[in-house]
Amino acid sequence: MKQGNIGVTTENIFPVIKKFLYSDHEIFLREIVSNAVDATQKLKTLEGKGEFKGELGELKVTVSFDKEAKTITVSDRGIGMTADEIDKYINQIAFSGANDFLDKYKDDATQIIGHFGLGFYSSFMVSDRVDIITKSYKDAPAVKWSCDGSPEYTIEETDKADRGTDIVMHISEDCEEFLDKWKLEGLLKKYCHFLAVPVAFGKKTKWDEEQKKSVETDEDEIINDVEPLWTRKPGDLKDEDYKQFYRHLYPMADEPLFWIHLNVDYPFNLTGILYFPKIKNQLDIQRNKIQLYCNQVFVTDQVEGIVPEFLTLLHGVIDSPDIPLNVSRSYLQSDSNVKKISQYITKKVADRLNSIFKNERKEFEEKWDDISIFIDYGMLSEEQFYDKARQFFLLKDTDGKYFTLDEYKTLTESAQTNKDGNLVYLYAQDPEAQYTYIEAARNKGYNVLLMQGQLDTPLINMLEQKLEKTTFSRVDADVIDRLIVKDDSTGTELGKEESEKLQNAFKELLPKMDKTEFNVQTSALGIGQLPVMITQSEYMRRMKEMSRMNPGMAFYGEMPDTYNLVLNTDDEIIKSCIENPDNEKISQLIDIALLQNGMLKGEALTKFVKRSVSMIK
Ligand code: ADP
Repeated sequence: MKQGNIGVTTENIFPVIKKFLYSDHEIFLREIVSNAVDATQKLKTLEGKGEFKGELGELKVTVSFDKEAKTITVSDRGIGMTADEIDKYINQIAFSGANDFLDKYKDDATQIIGHFGLGFYSSFMVSDRVDIITKSYKDAPAVKWSCDGSPEYTIEETDKADRGTDIVMHISEDCEEFLDKWKLEGLLKKYCHFLAVPVAFGKKTKWDEEQKKSVETDEDEIINDVEPLWTRKPGDLKDEDYKQFYRHLYPMADEPLFWIHLNVDYPFNLTGILYFPKIKNQLDIQRNKIQLYCNQVFVTDQVEGIVPEFLTLLHGVIDSPDIPLNVSRSYLQSDSNVKKISQYITKKVADRLNSIFKNERKEFEEKWDDISIFIDYGMLSEEQFYDKARQFFLLKDTDGKYFTLDEYKTLTESAQTNKDGNLVYLYAQDPEAQYTYIEAARNKGYNVLLMQGQLDTPLINMLEQKLEKTTFSRVDADVIDRLIVKDDSTGTELGKEESEKLQNAFKELLPKMDKTEFNVQTSALGIGQLPVMITQSEYMRRMKEMSRMNPGMAFYGEMPDTYNLVLNTDDEIIKSCIENPDNEKISQLIDIALLQNGMLKGEALTKFVKRSVSMIK
C-alpha cells in the first residue's frame, strides 16, 4: 500500500469545498454520475476507433445505497483507471497559483469547483471518506484509492472482476438525509433525467396477487431517457412528439402554441427546443422555466443572462457544452460565448416566428393574442428583435382583423392623415366602455385598433418613436374632429361671453369626485351629435398608465384624473340652455355623459334615476 499527499498546493482544499458549497451540496450526485457517464462514453468512442477490442457488454451506470453501511455507490462499466491515471487525474489537482485563486474566490465555491474541474471532489461535501475501486480497460491490476477528506490518501491493489469504476461514498452524519430512496430518486430525476447512458436505480416493481403488495422484480429501474427529443433530428419528429415531450417536462401546463427546435454547431454548439406556452396566470410563469443542460446533464433552470430576458418566459430546454457548467452568474453574464448564444437564440426565435407568419398566417393570427405578450416584450427590450419582429408584428382592430404595420399604414393613410400630414392611429382599450367613441370614429370612415395588452401603453410610446409621422390616440381622447383635424374651418362657434355663461352653468352643477377634475368646453360638434361628451387627454392618461408600471414616474400617478366635458353648441338642448339655463336639464345632461363613461355611481346614480323617473311622469 502506498500513501501520499493530494497535490493541492494550498493547505487543505476540503474545508473550502465543504463550507462554501454547503447550500448546493446535492450537486455531488450530478458530478459523480456524469463522470461515470463520461467514462462509459469514452469507452464507446475507443471502441469506435478500434482502440478497444473487448466486449462492451451492457453499458449502464448503477446508483445504489446502503442505509446500514451508510454508503452511496455509483458504478460504471466505462474505461476505468490505472494506478497511474488515478495519480494523474485524482491526486494531482493540477493548477497553479491555487492559493491566490482560493483567496479570491473563497466565497464562491461553485467558481472554484468549476475552475479546477473538481467535480469528483464534490463527493467530499457529503462524505467522511470516499473510495474509488477501479479497473482499467487496459491490462492493468485493479486499484482501490481511499481518502478521508484530508490531503492524505491511500492506494492499493485490489480485486475487481469487472472493468469500470465504483465510487463509494461513506456519507457523513450531517448528510444522512441522502441515504433515502425518495431523496436520491428526486435528485437523479432532476439532474440525470436525460443523460446519454442508462442510469439504473433500484428495481422495477410489480403487483403480486398472492402477497397483495407490489414486489421487486429482477429488472433494473432506469430513471433516464437516453435520447431526449432535442438530440434527435427535427426531420424525424412529428408535432405529437413535441407535444408529448412538453407534457413530460411540464405535466400541469396547457398545450404549447409553437415550438422552435434549435440546432447549431458553429460557432458554438447548441441544441434545444423552446416552446411558446399558453400562459394562464402569473403562477405558470414562475413555476415552469427553461431548463439548461450541458451535454444532457441538468445545470439550472435559472437561465437569466443566457437567454435574452424576454425569452425567459418561454419553456423548454437548451443544451450546450459551451456553457460552463459550474460557474457563477456574474461569470456567465460576462462570458462572450454566452452572449453569442443569447443573440443566436433571439435571431432563431424571430426567424421561426417570421416563417410561421409567412407560411401559416391564419394559424399565426389565431394564436396572436396569446403570443403577443412575448413579442411586445421582446420588441420593447431588444432592438435586434424589434428589427426582425417588425415584419410579423400584428395590430388588431376592433373588428378582430389583423394587420402588419405596413398593411395598416396602407389601410388608413388616405382617411386618417391630418392637415399637418401626420397619420393618426385611433385605438380603444375597452370596446364596451368606449363604444360611442368607436362608433363616432367609424362613422367618419376611420379604423379603430384594439389595444388591450398589458404592454400596449409602452408599446404605443415606442411605435410613435419608430414609425414616421404617426401618432396614436385613444378614441375618447377628444371629439373626433379634433382627433384628426382635417381643416381649420370649425363651423360657427359661440361668442366668448355666451360660451363662458354656458360653461359656468355646467360647472356649478358638476358633481364633486375624489381625485377627478373637469374642464368644461364648448364646441360645434354638429347637428345630430350628442349634446354632451366626456373626453380625456391622451398625454395625461398615458403618463398615468406608464406610472403604474414605472416607479420612477410615481409623480404622474399622484395627479388627479382630468376630463373634458364638451358641450355641443350645435345641439338644440344646449342652445336652449344658453337662453334659459334650466338646472334640472343641465344636471340630467351631465349625468348622462358621466353614465356613458361609467363614472356615475352611488348617490349620484340614484339621484339620476329618480330625476329621470320624475321627468317621464
Ligand atoms: P472533470 O470530470 O471535470 O475532468 P473530475 O474531478 O470530476 O473532473 O474528474 C477528474 C478525472 O478523473 C476525470 O477527468 C477522469 O479522467 C477521471 N475520472 C473521474 N471519474 C471517473 C470514472 N468514473 N471513470 C474513469 N475516470 C474517472
